[in-house]
Amino acid sequence: MPIKNSKQKKKKKDNIEKEPKEKKEPAFQTVRGMHDILPKDEDRWKAIWNIGEKMSELYDFSLIETPILESAALFEAGIGVGTDIVEKEMFSFKTKGDEVVVLRPEGTAPVMRSYIQHHLGRFSSPLKVYYVGQMFRYEKPQAGRYRAFHQWGFETIGEGDPFYDAQTILLAVNFLKELGIKNVTLKINTVGCRVCRPNYRKKLLAYYKGEKKHLCADCLRRYEKNPMRLLDCKEEECKKMREDAPIILDHLCQSCNGHMKEVLELVEENGLEYEPDPYLVRGLDYYNRTVFELIAKDSAGFALAGGGRYDYLGELVGGRMIPAVGVSLGMERLVEYMEEKKIFVKAKKKPGVFFVIIGDPAKKVGFRLIHKLRESNMRVLEAVGKKSLKAQLKAANRAGTELALMLGQKECFEETVIIRDMRTGVQETVLAEKIIEETKKRLR
Ligand code: AMP
Repeated sequence: MPIKNSKQKKKKKDNIEKEPKEKKEPAFQTVRGMHDILPKDEDRWKAIWNIGEKMSELYDFSLIETPILESAALFEAGIGVGTDIVEKEMFSFKTKGDEVVVLRPEGTAPVMRSYIQHHLGRFSSPLKVYYVGQMFRYEKPQAGRYRAFHQWGFETIGEGDPFYDAQTILLAVNFLKELGIKNVTLKINTVGCRVCRPNYRKKLLAYYKGEKKHLCADCLRRYEKNPMRLLDCKEEECKKMREDAPIILDHLCQSCNGHMKEVLELVEENGLEYEPDPYLVRGLDYYNRTVFELIAKDSAGFALAGGGRYDYLGELVGGRMIPAVGVSLGMERLVEYMEEKKIFVKAKKKPGVFFVIIGDPAKKVGFRLIHKLRESNMRVLEAVGKKSLKAQLKAANRAGTELALMLGQKECFEETVIIRDMRTGVQETVLAEKIIEETKKRLR
């Protein structure tokens, strides 16, 4: 064995930064409510990506990506000024050019902005697009609720047929199923339309009028600005109040009634169970007719996904009615749920080789050979900072590669490389110029 594992090298410390003994908070940390995605969660994030892409292909959705910064006015017009998001949760600021912009709080209004701006309706009807990205809401941080989080969203724009409402629901349910999340409740409701909603709103205001003293501060505001949101307050007193409140199902116009009926029939057609929830109204102004959420039965009750129909958004942000329906899945919540329930996913990686370089003179040749291997589509790992053979082989073991390719001064001189089978420890010397074929031959 030409490469020495010398004692003298043992003494020489690998240049690893040792963690300081006493625990001191680092000076810089993520901003409150924000978080890092760490390598330990890579497999779960990748699983969501892979399944998201697979579902997008199967259901024929194409990628759309909009900027993280949008004008504040887009959301004020689209989501509505009386909503929690616009009133309290937007990260907004003025640019040097005096434009008021926000870090987008959600993806649907930007997609509709893009649809109108680029005349995307010309290309297909309906337009089916998906987006993946970070959203920002200045909410009270707590488990499962962040100020920056990722959503995977699907939007079908240009169609009012209940077929697409049902398809959107099914798509989200199947997305979760593919991830191994099967135990979900589909909560569904309708929020009516401009024909039936005003009448219902009146009934609701009349019901709550004499009861205002029982409402929380938020609901008092909602009473003035967005009375349907009185129904989804989480305060116990307000929840009690809603028990006798009129429900929209009793006040739907014929057309909304027919739409809802058809959505439910299509959902049933696919064997999906659902729970009608008259208190599900969702916070945004742009929803009409179908609204829904998917909630894991064995969780704290957080929604994993939510969506609905938003036929008026086009008009709110672009001046004309464009029927549309969509859903978005909260990716952090999916990752956390999978972690909690030990839903194990392993991202498939190419079998890798670990390249061991001993001594500085071997570095240049090693650098070239590693590049050659990668050019031939091989995954190569290395730990050049660890100087000793033992430390590098230990790292190879930990990484679980099948092979280690080893290069020292002698091999450089002889233009060879040693290939070590990490399971058996058997080593063979091969010509450096044959490194690609020889490695491929030995990789299973
Ligand atoms: P929404 O855009 O409010 O309909 O939310 C859609 C999905 O995004 C929800 O069902 C959650 O899974 C996720 N989500 C919404 N807000 C947050 C948040 N603050 N932190 C983490 N996930 C969120």
